[in-house]
Amino acid sequence: MMESFNILLVTGNSETVVLIERHLLGAINARYELAGAADIDAACDRLENSPCDVLLLDIEGDDNHGLKAVKRLNKAYPGLPVIVVTCLDDEAAAIEALKSGAQDYLIKGNIEPRGLARSIYHSLERNRLQLRLEAAEQRAHFLATCDVLTGLANRQAFNDRLDRAIKYSERYNLKLAVLLLDIDRFKSVNETLGHQAGDKLLKEIGTRLRASIRETDVVARVGGDEFLFMLLNIQEAHNAARVAEHILGALDKPLIVNGHEIFLTATVGIALYPDDGKNLWTLIRNADTAMHIGKRAGHQRYKFYAAEMNNRAMKRLEMEADLRHALKRNEFILHYQPQVNGQPDQIIATEALVRWQHPKQGMVPPNDFIPLTEETGMIISLGEWVLHEACRRNREWQDAGYPPIRIAVNVSPRQFEQPAFVETVKQVLRDTHLDPRWLELELTEGAVMQDAEKTIDALKELKQLGTRVSIDDFGTGYSSLSYLKRFPIDMLKVDKSFVDDVPGDPDDVAIVKAILAMAKSLSLEVIAEGIETAEQNAFMKGLGCDYMQGFLFYRPLPHEQIATILQGLSSVKGKRRIGRAADATPAPTDGKQK
Ligand code: C2E
Ligand code: MG
Ligand code: MG
Repeated sequence: MMESFNILLVTGNSETVVLIERHLLGAINARYELAGAADIDAACDRLENSPCDVLLLDIEGDDNHGLKAVKRLNKAYPGLPVIVVTCLDDEAAAIEALKSGAQDYLIKGNIEPRGLARSIYHSLERNRLQLRLEAAEQRAHFLATCDVLTGLANRQAFNDRLDRAIKYSERYNLKLAVLLLDIDRFKSVNETLGHQAGDKLLKEIGTRLRASIRETDVVARVGGDEFLFMLLNIQEAHNAARVAEHILGALDKPLIVNGHEIFLTATVGIALYPDDGKNLWTLIRNADTAMHIGKRAGHQRYKFYAAEMNNRAMKRLEMEADLRHALKRNEFILHYQPQVNGQPDQIIATEALVRWQHPKQGMVPPNDFIPLTEETGMIISLGEWVLHEACRRNREWQDAGYPPIRIAVNVSPRQFEQPAFVETVKQVLRDTHLDPRWLELELTEGAVMQDAEKTIDALKELKQLGTRVSIDDFGTGYSSLSYLKRFPIDMLKVDKSFVDDVPGDPDDVAIVKAILAMAKSLSLEVIAEGIETAEQNAFMKGLGCDYMQGFLFYRPLPHEQIATILQGLSSVKGKRRIGRAADATPAPTDGKQK
């Protein structure tokens, strides 16, 4: 029961006022206030400014007029309980009043204090339950149809609406499009900034996405960072493409969360009704396939589903099966790309890059199969093989008497997060008798940022061991500067995508300059990847970039060719030592590692 409440008595009769006041005083224990209004108009005026919890309406004689008043109050104040007080002892009138919306019908001559109190309490209680029921219903409806975090439609609601839209489009011979949008690398944002910030981000993304489409179109959140769109009445495929551009454009501006500026990209897969599917399941599945193909293609922002994509999916399954045998069948080989200190003959390291010699397809480049090995976990055994083979080869070159250089090995995030990773590195170095200082591990930003505290421990162990660590593809992920400072790393590898357009593109020039300035202030070395032209080389050198890697100097080469190159260099050894690394750190004397 309410602790206190307000009663409004509507009557033009002073005797009624006295009667009600007296009864209330005798029977209501709670705190209440009684206000009065002479007629229904005055009551409505009053209610505009000071609402009440229960209204007592005196109906005198003219019942028709009184019933109108009940209806009027009900319409204007739907939740307000109205109790009719009247001298008209007429059952039919009472029923009419209740039908019109009154909660009770009290006859003045018969009212006694407790009866009045009971009627008021019941009205209040009924009203309170009604409000709770309505709120619960609203909440249930919201939960059944909406995504709680973003307030967008949920999968169920989306499916219902798509199903209806398909039927409508079928009847009127219209087209529609289903788009599936997935935020790129959202996992790493979540892991870097925490889940609460991730949730805030998703909310903001939801708002932007909703604002980017027409009122009649639908957007739903259907997974952590996945959104489905239904675009009605799409005439041509390119109309859907334009909307996809527009939607993606909504994410172009940085999002601000907890003071961080977050730049996000996303990939959209598009399936069209009726071309790519005639029911909702096929359309959604095909939009999903298209999205995944777009992701794998790299910088494809949106991708249409087309029938031939099914074949690709089949091929992917075959590839997965083939990959499972590839290691046993010795189908992987390593190529090596030298890293230089300004000149082709100043080699400081070679990067081991894996290739798959597929029995039918020939040489498959890593970008075509590494992601699959990461998804399936095969990267763990493949990565270990690469590490072992690369260290073994480097030791072989050293044993042949070539000037020692470092071997750089790519480590995928899944490898790095293995608790036994550092132990594996130690074991491989022991097995191959390579001095740790001739090994460099290339980690990605994503890998080191995943669990920064664990990273610091692992990196410290590697540092103690004496191996070097560089951050590969630097600039493409989300690095937190404060962590970068605490990580004991040696070098940043500026991603090829930034090097591609220098010195022409002012944006890339600015990024490259910023990376170099930051690296200097953190005392890190910098290597530029993908140097293809003398102009890029001169420009990067001019900025103080320490090392270069790219087709301008060497392509990735089979080990025999590297041996030939090293042999050529060792013949001039003595007159001129190669590379800065070799200068700075002389070859191990016994070459054996305990
Ligand atoms: P990455 O580690 O950034 O390696 C550099 C890639 O850029 C190599 O491609 C290399 O051939 C290419 N590249 C170097 N210089 C130039 C240039 O001047 N122009 C152009 N257009 N490309 C250049 P590749 O060998 O196809 O490897 C691609 C990616 O596959 C590597 O990128 C790395 O992320 C991954 N990868 C390769 N081997 C392994 C491995 O053993 N383990 C893991 N986890 N990933 C590997
Ligand atoms: Mg690399
Ligand atoms: Mg790279």
